[in-house]
Amino acid sequence: MSIAEQAEADLRELMSIPDNYQVLFLQGGASAQFSLIPMNLLRGAKQADYINTGAWSKKAIAAAEAFCTVNIAASSEESNFTTIPAFASWQLGQGAGYVHYTANETIGGVEFHWIPDTGDKPLVADMSSTMLSRPLDVSRYGLIYAGAQKNIGPAGLTLVIVRDDLLGKVHPLTPSVFDYKVQADADSMSNTPPTFAWYLTGLVLQWLKSQGGLSSISDTNNRKAKKLYTAIDGSGYYANPVEEQSRSWMNVPFTLAEPELDKTFLAEAEAAGMVALKGHRSVGGMRASIYNAMPEEGVDTLVAFMQEFERTHG
Ligand SMILES: *Cc1c(COP(=O)(O)O)cnc(C)c1O
Repeated sequence: MSIAEQAEADLRELMSIPDNYQVLFLQGGASAQFSLIPMNLLRGAKQADYINTGAWSKKAIAAAEAFCTVNIAASSEESNFTTIPAFASWQLGQGAGYVHYTANETIGGVEFHWIPDTGDKPLVADMSSTMLSRPLDVSRYGLIYAGAQKNIGPAGLTLVIVRDDLLGKVHPLTPSVFDYKVQADADSMSNTPPTFAWYLTGLVLQWLKSQGGLSSISDTNNRKAKKLYTAIDGSGYYANPVEEQSRSWMNVPFTLAEPELDKTFLAEAEAAGMVALKGHRSVGGMRASIYNAMPEEGVDTLVAFMQEFERTHG
């Protein structure tokens, strides 16, 4: 119990979570939330607004379609998901119960660096791959959720931060362990929680505090991303397709001028101690995920390796 309480207190402190928000420690991953959000948040509405910015948005949309009419209020499909649709172009629906967007598209490497202003309509964000990477004004949201395994802790834990007034009007078929109100009233222990993942997450939160909190980690993340994008843009050999103002701080996809050397790049990188650089199978090329856990020296090492690879193979 003390571990659970400490982790929640540390998360509240790190993110300055207002008192009228519940913090839930759930299971099922972000993917379960794709269905649980409409079940918990429609509150009788027949429609929800979704912004389509890539692979994870699409999955959230597909799941919501079982529960309501999904209005795609904006999409960047036309640019092959290398942009974020300008807010002025969003066509929000009148009767929508909430507005959902994916704050960071982990596969495409596209990130919102601004918060949409949806007025009275609750704003819902999938922050699986960006939560805790920088400070965030939680009060702008109705609900934020994240599978822990990208930037928070081990797989098996899902964080949901939700405003009090949105709770308690669930779809009648909602399993009680996935009813936010039931879990909020039970301190996320209406059934056995993922204790070990919760414990490890608590340690990560302590570590984040020891690093100076979110403004400090945000400075580091910003520097890491800048270094890598600068190296890519300056090379003429590597390329990243995402528009400059929407580039992810966390996931940096890049391609080689000669894709036939992808395998060589990966093999030589691995020999030099750098693993997991292969891009998602749906995109190809490379992807450097530079979450909080990746130290700045890791990015320096990658940049030096990329320059050397270009010199010797380019
Ligand atoms: C990884 C990821 C998911 C899926 O998370 P699971 O916990 O595996 O269900 C959803 N959304 C985003 C943005 C992700 O990065």
